[in-house]
Formats: sequence, C-alpha cells, structure tokens
Amino acid sequence: DENHLAQALRAASVGDDARLFARHDGGELSYGALFAGAERMAAALAAAGVKPGDRVAAQVEKSLEAVQLYLGSVLAGAVFLPLNTAYTPAEVGYFLGDAEPAAFLCDPGRREALTGAAKNVGAVMTLDRAGRGTLRDAADAADAGFGAVPRGAEDLAAILYTSGTTGRSKGAMLSHRALTSNSLTLRDVWRFTAADVLIHALPIFHTHGLFVATNVTLMAGGGVFFMAKFDADAALGAMAQGATAMMGVPTFYTRLLDHPGLTREATAGMRLFVSGSAPLLPETHDAWRARTGHAILERYGMTETNMNTSNPYDGERRAGTVGFPLPGVDLRVADPETGRSLPQGEIGVIEVKGDNLFSGYWRMPEKTAEDMRADGFFITGDLGVIDDRGYVSIVGRAKDLIISGGFNVYPREVEERIDAVVGVKESAVVGVPHPDFGEAVVAVVTPEKPDSVDEAAVMTAISADLARYKHPKRVVIVDELPRNAMGKVQKKALRETFGRLFT
Ligand code: ATP
Ligand code: MG
Repeated sequence: DENHLAQALRAASVGDDARLFARHDGGELSYGALFAGAERMAAALAAAGVKPGDRVAAQVEKSLEAVQLYLGSVLAGAVFLPLNTAYTPAEVGYFLGDAEPAAFLCDPGRREALTGAAKNVGAVMTLDRAGRGTLRDAADAADAGFGAVPRGAEDLAAILYTSGTTGRSKGAMLSHRALTSNSLTLRDVWRFTAADVLIHALPIFHTHGLFVATNVTLMAGGGVFFMAKFDADAALGAMAQGATAMMGVPTFYTRLLDHPGLTREATAGMRLFVSGSAPLLPETHDAWRARTGHAILERYGMTETNMNTSNPYDGERRAGTVGFPLPGVDLRVADPETGRSLPQGEIGVIEVKGDNLFSGYWRMPEKTAEDMRADGFFITGDLGVIDDRGYVSIVGRAKDLIISGGFNVYPREVEERIDAVVGVKESAVVGVPHPDFGEAVVAVVTPEKPDSVDEAAVMTAISADLARYKHPKRVVIVDELPRNAMGKVQKKALRETFGRLFT
C-alpha cells in the first residue's frame, strides 16, 4: 500500500537527498530537507488531531514551509485546502464553515482577527512568511521519518476553491488520481527533467502555482527559483543565473515586456515560457517573440479539470489559441443545450473528460450534477471553437456571452478588434441591461498612454470590420481593468459598475 500522490511526487528524487530543489532569498533547500520538513509537518498535523480524510485549511503567505505543509498534508492522508491570502476574515469564515477542516493554519499577524472565523476548528496553528509559527515549532519538535499514510487513486488530496470570477467560489474536490495523472502528463509533454530550474513566482493557493508549477517540478526532480511574488527584475535575475523555464499568467509577460532588460540575450538560457489562467493577447505573444525569439506556450485549464489543452512543444504555437487536448483528455465543442458535438469551426461550450477531472463540487451535489453530462463529460462553461488544424480557441465564458437584440456577441471577437486600435492598451467587453436590446455591448478600454484614445476613435476604427449588432453602444475609457490575484479580468465587477448606463 502506498500514498498515490506522495509516491509520484517523490519518485524522481528518491535516493538523491542532496539534489537541489529551491533557490530562494535565504539560500537553498535540498530535496532531502524538503521532504524531511514535510514529514515533520505531517507528524505535527497528526499530533494535532488530523486524521486521514480530514481537511487541512491554510491561509498562509507563500513560503517553502507552506510547500512543506502541502506535502505534509498529502503524507498525512489529509485533504489540503489552501485559501487565497486576499480573503477577508468573513470570507475565510465562510470557507471554514463550508469545509469543516480539522486544522487551520494562518499568519500569526491575523490569528486574532480570524478567531471568529476559526471558532469551530479543532486545531489552529500559525505560519508566517518567513516560515515561523506554532506549526513550525510543532514540526521542529516532531520526528522526521513519518511514514506516508496509504491513499488510493480515488481518495481526495485537495479541495481547491475556484477563483470566484463568475460568482461565489466553489470547492473542487481533487483526487490523488486527477492530480498525479495531470502533472505527469504535463511533465512529459513540456519535457521537464531534473535539469530544469523553474521560475516559480505564482501564488500557491491556486492550481497554477501549486499543482502545475510545483507538482510538475517535483515529478521531474527539477529545481525552482522560489519567489514570494512576481517581480520583473527578480525574474530576469533568475534567467541570468540558470533558470530554464517560467510558468506565468499573462501579466508576467506584459510586465517583462515593459522592462528594458528583456532581450534575446537575457532569455538565451530559457527553453520554455508557459502562460495560462487568463487569455494571452496575440499582441503579447507576437511582441514576446519579436523581443526574445521565444514563442510563449499557452495552455488552458481550470481548478475543476487541471490542465485540458496545450500548444505543442514541437510545432507551431498559435497565438490566440490554447492548442490541442492533452493526451488522455477528451475534448469536444458542444451545443450548450444538448451536449452534442458541433461541426468543426462552430462556437459552442467546451466539454472535457479524462483522468484529469475533479470528483465533484464539495457539498454541492446538485451543482455537480448540473455541470456533468450523462456520458461523463464536464461542462466547463467556457465557449470555444476548434480550427481546421485542431487548435482550440477560447472565445469567452458562457456567462459572459452577450445577447443583444437576439444576436449572440462573443466578447473576445470585439475585444480583439479594439485591442488592435492604435492607442489602446487593452479592453473588456461586457453586456449590460438595455431597454430595447435586452443587453447592450459596452467596451471598457484602457489607453496606452493618458488620452491616447477616446470613444470616437475606437468606434471609427472598428465599425467597418464588425457587424452592426456587435458594435459597442458605449466605449468607456478607464485607467485600469479590475483584476483578481490570478490576473483575471473581473467582468462581473464591470457589469456592476456600468450596469445602469442605459436603464
Ligand atoms: P469561478 O469558476 O469561481 O468563476 P474561475 O473560473 O476564474 O472562477 P479558475 O478555475 O481559477 O476559476 O479559472 C478557470 C478559468 O480560467 C477557465 O474556465 C477559463 O475561463 C480561464 N482560463 C484558463 N486558462 C485560460 C487561457 N489560456 N485562456 C483563456 N482563459 C483561460
Ligand atoms: Mg470557473
């Protein structure tokens, strides 16, 4: 009997304790030290009353000890439940009430404020950004050599709450099978090996930083430049010191493009740049290629499914697409009503099936049933289309689809036109209530420089290329689009802000 995920995370480095895992501000951490610390964390959790199958919730800053906490939770047979560090005590209270964890870890500085939120949790311990706190003290006092609790493929390893972009976050139950199979697939298709050193600057409360970045590296036996948050100077510094790969959200790439240090020479040692979690603008892809000679590899995934598609490692990485279904992932573009596959080239809802899928929404059986087809496909809620060469493109979320005067308007199509207008930095197109049309198209636009564009200029530039019903009824210029921690544009917030333009 073994622990399915723990075994996969350890296999590539077992017997090589001296191998380097992380380089960070304070020094270096070997694989041996990483897992010894994780075993002590597991022992501390068990001593605090955490039993196999119990949830371990954590709202802690990014640190290597927080990574060890995740690994310790897996070793203890528990279900790890990381929470966004931006959540308020009231929000944390909701998640803890919903998940009923046996243990909760928080920053010592917030312990007081979270007392109410954590009132029903048996064990509350602390861990700060430097990796200190009562959890660390308990772990330091425990013995290393904690034997991993056996867990099968279908046992849960984590519950991750979705980003809450479209509504209240839902807890996605993730099995050892889903996490292990997807990370092994990514390791292989992206060719990660022990020679890789990844720039790890993503948060670890989200699937991108925790599972894609961390699990893939561990399963390859590679290393990381471990950074608490993204900083363009630090990323360039890592590239100068031997980094080979970076995984990022699109804002990492736009911020690096704003840095004069980003050159062909600066990126010469890098073999792979991956982008995901939000759409990468084709302009960003093209600008990156022109500056560095590298084609960013864009992929598509979600909390519930892990990664679904990826542009190819070898072969053309097509800007504006998310590539092909990964090995082991069945993907179809379907009629939202019936789930029937649509002909190539038609827009429909993306549905996926495979070992990568979650095991349902935590304590939401009805929501789970609503989002699953009878034949086992999960309805992602993303609208997409497949081109004649098999590349998948996301055209927006079903919830963001605009129906104006009875016609479907896909925001992405309008956004692409607007983004190409001289003087425009970026745009978000949303539908808001309108007395005649049901919904009206509204474009929210940020200028490249102050006053570099106005409403009339945008309208003039795009109107010839777009059918009339797709024309924005208003173009609003703002300084910045509202984004969450993962760099996702908050369209819900925009609909609220501009919801009364016509009523
Ligand atoms: P919620 O489900 O709570 O509304 P969310 O869907 O933003 O939030 P996540 O699971 O973090 O939560 O994000 C998954 C979504 O991110 C996908 O469904 C898709 O809409 C978007 N996404 C991920 N990668 C890409 C990509 N490369 N291009 C476009 N969209 C992407
Ligand atoms: Mg979602």
